[in-house]
Amino acid sequence: MFCIELTNHCNLRCPMCTLGTMERPAGFIEPDLFREVVDQSRRFGIEVDWFHIYGEPLLHPRIEELMAYFREHGLGLGGISTNGLILNRHRIHVLKTYCTEVLVAVDSMREEVYRVLRANDRFSELCDKVRLLIDQAAGTGLRITIQYLQTRLNPDETQADFEAVFGRHPHVTYFTKITEQFAGGEDFTLQELPRLPKQNCPKLHHFLGILANGECVTCCYDVDGEQSAGNIRESNLLELWNGESRRRQLRDSAAGDFSALPLCDKCAGATVG
Ligand code: SF4
Repeated sequence: MFCIELTNHCNLRCPMCTLGTMERPAGFIEPDLFREVVDQSRRFGIEVDWFHIYGEPLLHPRIEELMAYFREHGLGLGGISTNGLILNRHRIHVLKTYCTEVLVAVDSMREEVYRVLRANDRFSELCDKVRLLIDQAAGTGLRITIQYLQTRLNPDETQADFEAVFGRHPHVTYFTKITEQFAGGEDFTLQELPRLPKQNCPKLHHFLGILANGECVTCCYDVDGEQSAGNIRESNLLELWNGESRRRQLRDSAAGDFSALPLCDKCAGATVG
């Protein structure tokens, strides 16, 4: 999986999110850097899966320019993951004109549960915005995924609860995500998820991300670039993927030596599911 973070600013402070413990300064990816990463990804055949690692991507003040560039020059799905609260007519225009996939983390159709998980009182406003997105996106080629986050607060919700409010549409799918425990975040897990052994962790083999500040992370849990494999301003994507820094991480992880892998050292292992 390859992800580019557009920003680590967020309009929300959800209690379960690691963003609350983030130490790097909040910022937006510079458009020149974005274009460079997109160009390299096409050149090296590395498809962009998501424009998200942390933060709310739609907050980027030049989101239209970035998405228009990706539409013309990019490779891959390039999905946008949003909490939905800053959707407006302009951002919906950007999504339906330049994007093919947007995931909206509605998480629960119970207002009292939503209020806890997303730490705000704007549930009905969110529903109105999602309805507008669904309506405006019909027939445009934009696919919408609405996320249900299964936690110990709402274990028995079903797709029918979401369909009752948003309906069934050919361009809308519903997706259930089982919440996991993130470092520094509040624990809403329904049950302990199985974890993979951290020795030779598969995430290190399958994930690459560029943070908004250009740092290249090899695990999506790396909120501050603590285990950075380098910076895209100094090495290109192929060098970062094949370079000595990442190879050393793979060797150390395979050997179970976490002395130079501070994030893995603290981690209990990637969850399954
Ligand atoms: S931090 Fe955890 S999930 Fe990430 S690569 Fe290391 S062991 Fe795997």
